[in-house]
Amino acid sequence: MPDDVAHPGDPAHPGEGPASGTVGPASGTGRPASGTGRAASGPTAAGAAPEPRGLDLPWADGTFPPDTVAARRQVWDALMGLALHEATHALASDDVPVGALVVGPDGRLLGVGRNRREETGDPTAHAEVLALRQAAATLGEWRLEGCTLVVTLEPCVMCAGALVLARVERLVLGAWDPKAGATGSVWDLVRDQRANHAVEVVGGIREDECAHLLRAFFAAQR
Ligand SMILES: [Zn+2]
Repeated sequence: MPDDVAHPGDPAHPGEGPASGTVGPASGTGRPASGTGRAASGPTAAGAAPEPRGLDLPWADGTFPPDTVAARRQVWDALMGLALHEATHALASDDVPVGALVVGPDGRLLGVGRNRREETGDPTAHAEVLALRQAAATLGEWRLEGCTLVVTLEPCVMCAGALVLARVERLVLGAWDPKAGATGSVWDLVRDQRANHAVEVVGGIREDECAHLLRAFFAAQR
């Protein structure tokens, strides 16, 4: 897939390689050097727990997310850094720079996405939707229970709906979107009492950087 070819060795593209499109289960090939760890250790004995899916991240060994506020904040900051990195790739196709990723209940990276609306001509190709799709493909399951979606901009109506439908547990967002945000700004679809699923919202993570990326993009468009 072109996405993988375009960014070889990119840590935000853990699933790179000709057969990918999903992240993991890690078999030892095509993994970034920083992703070393448990998953590569030896054959699994018969009857043992299935190999964890997705890409090992530095914090995936401990409790996820960490117990203390400060440690959590560190993890959100680091994950938002990956999402920001992914967002910058959207600039190559003149897409609004928004990046997203999904981590599993154990903190492993399951999917990444960036806004590709212009690149693909697909009105639904938002960063969140693409990250959710990749995460579901990685898990082989549409229910993303216990998962966290990290995105640089507050989700729109469509993406907020997708978060609820995927039963994502937590949303970590960078910049709020006072014009079209649907997770607290204009609407709040992820905490609507009429829905059968609610999403925890953690807002304003690396907000200045996320907003700056967008402002610079729109300023250059004028
Ligand atoms: Zn959206």
